[in-house]
Amino acid sequence: MRRLVELDHRFVWHPFTQMRDWLRREPIVIVRGKGAILRDIHGHEYLDANSSIWTNLHGHNHPKINAAIQRQLKKIAHSSALGLANEPAGLLAERLVALTNSKLVGRGVLTAPQGWFRAKRRAGDSAPNLEKVFFSDDGSTALEVALKLAYEFSRRTGRGKNPKFLSLEGAYHGDTVGAVALGHINLFHKNYSELLFKTDRVMSPYCYCCPFNRAKPERADARDYRKCNWECVGLVEKKFALQKRKGNSYAAFVFEPLIQGAAGMIAQPGGWLNRVTQIARSHGALLIADEVMTGFGRVGQASCLSPSSEKVRDRLEACPTLFACQHENVKPDFLCLAKGLTGGYLPMAATLTTQKVFDAFLGEYHEFKTFFHGHSYTANQLGAAAALASLQILQSEKSIRARQNLGKNLHDELQTLWSLPNVGDVRQVGLIAGIELVRDWRTCVPFALRECAGIRVCEAMARHGVLTRPVGNVVVLMPPYCTTPRQVRKMIRAVFDSVREVFGRTSV
Ligand code: PMP
Repeated sequence: MRRLVELDHRFVWHPFTQMRDWLRREPIVIVRGKGAILRDIHGHEYLDANSSIWTNLHGHNHPKINAAIQRQLKKIAHSSALGLANEPAGLLAERLVALTNSKLVGRGVLTAPQGWFRAKRRAGDSAPNLEKVFFSDDGSTALEVALKLAYEFSRRTGRGKNPKFLSLEGAYHGDTVGAVALGHINLFHKNYSELLFKTDRVMSPYCYCCPFNRAKPERADARDYRKCNWECVGLVEKKFALQKRKGNSYAAFVFEPLIQGAAGMIAQPGGWLNRVTQIARSHGALLIADEVMTGFGRVGQASCLSPSSEKVRDRLEACPTLFACQHENVKPDFLCLAKGLTGGYLPMAATLTTQKVFDAFLGEYHEFKTFFHGHSYTANQLGAAAALASLQILQSEKSIRARQNLGKNLHDELQTLWSLPNVGDVRQVGLIAGIELVRDWRTCVPFALRECAGIRVCEAMARHGVLTRPVGNVVVLMPPYCTTPRQVRKMIRAVFDSVREVFGRTSV
């Protein structure tokens, strides 16, 4: 056992980790997993409260996914998609196209803030279907593919020689260089600025810290009590108009729908996404939806509703959706999927796009219109087999009910956190929760990053048997769908106790 720790310390460089800190302590070495539980070399058990960095859907060691991989393994593990087709990848592409174009349930903006929201044509109504699937390896490569296709498509269809991209404040779309260029998190991206092509950013709707929100902080999700005139939407409109005046309208608008993950679990108020995508479309921009985190049921059924919207919630619960865009009736031109695609088993990603984009790359060989892009493991059979099994589980009655119950349990248990003065905002979107830590909820003054508030709380949670990672000062909970009510309670109790241990025992 000691040897495993030594091997890690000697040879392994961990992602997003200050290795000096890492080398000071014995790491938790995971050897097994079952359901929502991970077990280490000493036999200690932990709840996997962030689904192994947002990848796992149905729990670890799921018999159906295990069996699907084993069945595939008896046939073949991998053959190249460069020049060859394979069975599971074809079946998976068909399923993904069917699921992403399934009937939209959001009919109308759910919490339309103003008359003009309702009056406008819905962004999704005339948008084309997603019909082609380009497989790759992970979230970053799914974005690279969308980026390159959108760039080249724009040039080929006469939208300008130098297509420009707009993404959101705080955006994170991966760590490869193209994906980094779309990102706007200084801590991660600034050092590489000279290496990157320039993209623009626009305000994202961060209600809790929004300078336009005139409401005093309350003990509730800031989206529910905010007082504003949707100035954030106005800024998007302005940004597009300004770029148009420069004579080079944005080629594409890149966004995470409903909630931005690495930005700090920034949850969008209902109606925002529908409106801003309409603006983007009206300026001729392509829509690139990054559902690497939000896809495959993660945002639940009624995520962008305020708790009072029971009527609409009932309507939505009758018709489960798997993708965040569907909640706001948004049909993107590119849909990027990864993480949960294989149920959290194997690295595989997919970029879905339209027939129109596909057609722009057709021609005689000598015209060199080919999309010259691909990876060695593109359309890997084991990954595709796992993904097919995962999708089947996702659509089962049992899983749909489990997701509904988990969303409700999370919601109920999260309420206990409002009594902690260092909890400023609790943002839940379906099966995702972000708990923002602040010096005092009344003033909303944040902790400086160097104080490691989020890291210290998560380290304390690990001592309580619950594993997750923060994004800055935001503690993330994103449990596997099989997490039981008792496990949810344990998870939230660990947040509660850890916040009190780290910041003191006062309460509101
Ligand atoms: N997009 C989003 C929204 C993500 O959350 C992530 C990863 N956290 C990525 C892209 C990149 O995915 P990967 O780490 O699989 O490259």
